[in-house]
This record gives sequence, C-alpha cells and structure tokens, in this order.
Amino acid sequence: MAHSLQINQSGQSASVGDPGGLNGDLNRGPKDGDLVDLVGLDRSEIGVELEKFGLLPREARMRTRQLWNWVYVNGLTDFEKMSNVSKTARQMFAARFMLRRPEIVSEQVSSDGTRKWLFRFKDPKHPNLPAVDVETVYIPENKRGTLCVSSQVGCTLNCSFCHTGTQMLVRNLTAGEILGQILMARQLLGDFPNGVRPSDGLVPKQDTRAITNVVMMGMGEPLFNFDNVKKALLIASDGEGISLSKRRITLSTSGVVSHIGRAGDEIGVMLAISLHAVNNELRNELVPINKKFPLEELLAACKAYPGLSNARRITFEYVMLKGVNDSDADARELVRLLAKIPAKINLIPFNPWDGSPYECSSWERIETFADIVNRAGYASPVRTPRGRDIFAACGQLKSTSERLSKRAQRALETPQKEIAGKTDEEK
Ligand code: SF4
Repeated sequence: MAHSLQINQSGQSASVGDPGGLNGDLNRGPKDGDLVDLVGLDRSEIGVELEKFGLLPREARMRTRQLWNWVYVNGLTDFEKMSNVSKTARQMFAARFMLRRPEIVSEQVSSDGTRKWLFRFKDPKHPNLPAVDVETVYIPENKRGTLCVSSQVGCTLNCSFCHTGTQMLVRNLTAGEILGQILMARQLLGDFPNGVRPSDGLVPKQDTRAITNVVMMGMGEPLFNFDNVKKALLIASDGEGISLSKRRITLSTSGVVSHIGRAGDEIGVMLAISLHAVNNELRNELVPINKKFPLEELLAACKAYPGLSNARRITFEYVMLKGVNDSDADARELVRLLAKIPAKINLIPFNPWDGSPYECSSWERIETFADIVNRAGYASPVRTPRGRDIFAACGQLKSTSERLSKRAQRALETPQKEIAGKTDEEK
C-alpha cells in the first residue's frame, strides 16, 4: 500500500533524522542571508572563502579537508559537532557559513518500495523570491538503490510523452541544490555513519549503501544547466567525499549535441540518450530538440563520446508508445541506427498521465520488440515501471509535483505571497 507523509516543517526541515541539526544552527547568530553556503562549492572555492578571513593557504587547505569530510562523508550540518576542529574555528565557521539542506514538503512511499520526496529550496540570500519545489525519487532494489535527481525546476523542452515538459522552466538548480537532493536523501535513508534506515519502503540492508547509483533523469534537461550539473557531479564523485564512482552516475540528455562531448570530457560519467524514435519526422514530434540536433548529429556525437567502449556503453532510452514507435520495422531500424555504437537499449513502458495523447504498448508488443533488439546482440531490458501509484515513474514527475504542491499548500497554509512568482500551472 502506498502512503504519504506531509511534513510541515516551516523551516524545521532538518529535524527528520538530521544528524547535524541544521536549523538549530541557523536560528542563532547571523541571519541566513549573511552566510555563505558551503554545499556546492568545490575545494578551491571553500579555500578562498576561508582565506577571506585571514587563514593562510596551508591552514585553509587543511580546514577544507576537514569540512569536506564532515559534510560529505559524515553528513553533518552543524559546525559545532565537528569534533576535530578547534572551538575557535567552529565558531568562526558558524558565524560565516552554512550547510544548506532542502526542506521536506512531503514524502511518499510506493507499494513497490519506491520513495519520492518533494523538496523545497529557499534562497536565503533572496528571501523575497518564492521557494522552488523539486521532486527526487529513490528506486530501491535488494542490494542497490538508485536516486533520480532533478537538474531544473520545470523544463524548457516539450517532449510530448513527458509530463515534466508541460511545466514551464522556473529556473536552473544550483550545484548546491543538486547536491542537496543527494545529501538529504542519504540523510533520510540512514546512509551516513550512525544513520538509521527507515522502517517502511524498501532500502538495502545497513551493510550496503542505500544509494549506490545516481541518475540525472529527474526534472529538467541536465545539459541546459551544464556548469551546475558538472560541479555537483564532480563533487558527488570525489573520492574523499560522497565517493560515488563515475560509472555509477548516469547523465541522461534529450540530445543536446553541443554539450555531449563536453559532458564526456569534463564530467566523465555514463551517458544516456532519450531516443524514443528512429526517424527525424517522429523524433521531431516526440523530442522536439531533434529539430535543432537531428538524429544524424546525435548519433555522431554518441559515436564520439569520450571513453566509449564495450565496458562503458551508452544507454538509449526508448519509451514504448502504442502504434507510434513500437512496430517490428521500428525495432529493426533501431538496431541499424545503433550499429557500431557500444549501446544498451532501455525499453520503457509508457507511464500515463492525465491529458497525454499516448497509450502504452501492449506487453506482447514490447516483448516482440525486445526480442528483435536482443537477437541483434543488444542488452535490452524492459524497465519495470516503479512508483506508478505515487506518480514517481519515468516522465510523471510534474503531475505529482503540481498535485502535491496544491495539497502541500493547503496543508501548510502557505501564504499567497510565497507562490506569487510561480507560473499559473504551478499554482
Ligand atoms: S523528457 Fe526530459 S528534456 Fe524532455 S520534457 Fe521531460 S524533463 Fe524535459
């Protein structure tokens, strides 16, 4: 049975399993707007911040290492608990810095164990700007767990099968907000030292990491927010911090060809392409960015993806739409197009949403399609729909966000001025 929890935190977000007690820290001393958020800064930027108030470069490097460990390995949000840092330095940190986490507006747990959070980010430097709400989804299995992270609030693209695409772009997320989703999810899943696993849903046992993989497949097009996504993923894969292997991080793009090579060179994570069609005419309709970057250019960029090999394949995502892209001829053309590209093909049963013009292909059709692709030598797992009952499945995120926002606003009695800056759709 799916269940949900509306959490009225009113600025008390870190109280849920918070090892560090974020708000206890923020509610005393200087105002949030005066503090520099260290989450999302790379090591050199933290060093610069430390040197600004008089630390010599060598000490700044040492303090940076300490902070990095406390924040990303131990998950602390309270400087006071950093036991190997002198009292003077702890006070100095608390007076100038903060370690921001999102508020938790709601948490839903699907009958299949999938978990979805609606996180709210407020910009303490701009308290009059409306907060933004972002969905993050955790897809657990027995021995692994994948976190689906958002890169933007809304999306500028209008992929016709995707409900997120019907939400106008509100703004890009900062590197700190992208990392904030990972840190908050780790906190809530008991994935930091001494953390406690939730008793509901499905989470791998304590001796395994709860989050073993991260996919940039939530709301938004990650390559349209390149700099922030790059920074966040480099921090997430830092071996002295969260330490996620780059082979366990996948960046999914609708096909922003201009940035695919840079993603390989500068971030070096695994790549997934939202393909969904095997000719330009249909792809122009399903994934309209294809008009700017047609299939030929997209596939050429994939062939040239840095580090591509049989051990490091590109995943091509293909949503199965009844009578639209699911014929035997489509399957054969897919195989032909991907020849010479080390690839996996991920067949995704369409997850319906209100007002969508599409239906999901029948299971027989999906199996026949998968057989053709398999016989050509491609691994082509059919992605089991997860979290459909809580609208957490692929392509459903916006609808839930809208619905939850309304419920959350009622539950939280959010003042109108807080949502005044949102689009009509979001309201
Ligand atoms: S599939 Fe991705 S890029 Fe396309 S509309 Fe949805 S969120 Fe945006």
